[in-house]
Amino acid sequence: MYPARFMLVGAMNPCPCGYMGDATKKCICQPFAIERYRSRLSGPLLDRMDIFIHVPRVNVDEIAQKSVPGVSSAELREQVIKARNIQLQRLASTGKTSNAEMGNKEIEQFCVLEPGVAEILQKAVQRLDLSTRAYYRTLKLARTIADLEGVENISQAHITEALSYRERSK
Ligand SMILES: [Zn+2]
Repeated sequence: MYPARFMLVGAMNPCPCGYMGDATKKCICQPFAIERYRSRLSGPLLDRMDIFIHVPRVNVDEIAQKSVPGVSSAELREQVIKARNIQLQRLASTGKTSNAEMGNKEIEQFCVLEPGVAEILQKAVQRLDLSTRAYYRTLKLARTIADLEGVENISQAHITEALSYRERSK
């Protein structure tokens, strides 16, 4: 095995016809067909993914519009650099450089939750039937969301956002 550091980005349709959840076109798939289609990706494989997001179809007219509101790429870049620096400092004693590299021991040490948030996470883990691996991934993700805000402790909002990236059935 060669050492490799990479980011894997994958895409799939929500169902065989591709229109499940679409605002204008109706999905024609039978529930069992959708289930069979999704089961082609195994749980252990999906467990190793950090983020799942639903990306709706974009209207051609919207792409043509030049003035898209929101944060600019330059502003985002600044935010990411700040968050990465926070992580570098926090992990300095461990020899690691980013949240993604944290093992379970570091996650427990550095992902400090605000009071009451652990209970909310526990309930969500049961409701979503998350594996231990997914549990730790959610904590790591919440840590990164808090770092992007420059906040030390992980709040309910951070955990809720991180959990929203684990729900695939949308
Ligand atoms: Zn469909």
